[in-house]
Amino acid sequence: MPQNNNKAFSKLPNVKTTIFTTMGQLALKHKALNLSQGFPNFKPDRSLIELVTKAMEEGYNQYAPMPGLLELRERIAYKMEDLYGRRYNPEKEVTVTVGATQAIFTIITAFIRGGDEVIVIKPAYDCYEPAIEVNGGVVVPIQLCNSDFKINWEEFRSKITSKTKMVIINTPHNPSGTIFSEADMLQLQKSLEGTNIILISDEVYEHIVFDGQLHHSAAKYSDLSQRSFVCGSFGKTFHITGWKVGYCLGPEALMHEFRKVHQFNVFCVDHAVQKALATYLKDPCNYLELGAFYEAKRDFFLSELANSRFKIKPCQGTYFQLLDYSTITTEPDEVFAERLVREYKIASIPISSFNTNKLDNNLLRFCFAKTDATLEKAVAILCTL
Ligand code: PMP
Ligand code: GLN
Repeated sequence: MPQNNNKAFSKLPNVKTTIFTTMGQLALKHKALNLSQGFPNFKPDRSLIELVTKAMEEGYNQYAPMPGLLELRERIAYKMEDLYGRRYNPEKEVTVTVGATQAIFTIITAFIRGGDEVIVIKPAYDCYEPAIEVNGGVVVPIQLCNSDFKINWEEFRSKITSKTKMVIINTPHNPSGTIFSEADMLQLQKSLEGTNIILISDEVYEHIVFDGQLHHSAAKYSDLSQRSFVCGSFGKTFHITGWKVGYCLGPEALMHEFRKVHQFNVFCVDHAVQKALATYLKDPCNYLELGAFYEAKRDFFLSELANSRFKIKPCQGTYFQLLDYSTITTEPDEVFAERLVREYKIASIPISSFNTNKLDNNLLRFCFAKTDATLEKAVAILCTL
């Protein structure tokens, strides 16, 4: 048995258990209200559950086709064309995956070789960097300023070198709740023009956008879409994070390479769930009403929080709210987050874990994908601080 006694043993010597697992376990241990990991604490639509049962009874219990059930890929392609005006070929340009996480890992594995540079915008969701590093890639971070989390496109362009193989963006953005504007997407398109850089556009919160704003998918921009994988997650859209079903879309040549890895990485995804989702997607209300649903939750959470000492950051999308606690304490965010669980029985996510060099701006992330009763209890606690 090889011994774990030197750095050469581990391909990821600096990777620890994710902050979501850490905070979730701490919440359980202390019986705290859990607003840390991003998942709804209410049930998905009953009819979706019934569709899965029906599919199982009808015999959808063996391996699904490797790229996904064609019926579901057709529905995904239809939704993309309807919303963003780009036609993806369901046979060759759409693949169903085990959540967006597997799509992202598989894309990176299919394209990143030792020494390739990948630009990652920080704060960043935590699955990108380990996937890059385990494949020998080099993360090139761009740290956003916590006042508005806006990208400086000059700085972005200055990070592009002859070794840049890929860029990863995430809009709506976890954890800041900001969204890329049309101008941002055009800047991105212009910055990548004439290069061979591949873009991963992580759009898992595409339907959770507020205040009448629009989601600007990379699929909408002709040059961008030619170099992009757009990643989505049914977990976020249909309140089924535990079912782990997502998808990615990309031009045929890129998807061809993707599937070479996908077929040996997972081969395929839960068959009955795919059948159910194909039927459920026929009604666009099932995803188009999601923004209003979460906007009401955000407004409820924030109106009550107006009486607290937290400073509220703007939230344009996702189901996460950042709160600045600098008027309450000078403790580092991890220390304060832990104390909130132990002493106040409420769990959140400290933002330093998403930042370059664990930059700490006294920000905590709270997930508001919760019942009104849970949000009420959360606010009652937060207002005592
Ligand atoms: N990207 C972002 C930005 C996320 O917040 C998440 C978290 N769920 C994922 C990807 C992963 O999605 P999935 O659960 O479908 O794997
Ligand atoms: N996306 C979820 C979040 O940001 C976490 C999912 C996970 O734990 N991997 O909270």
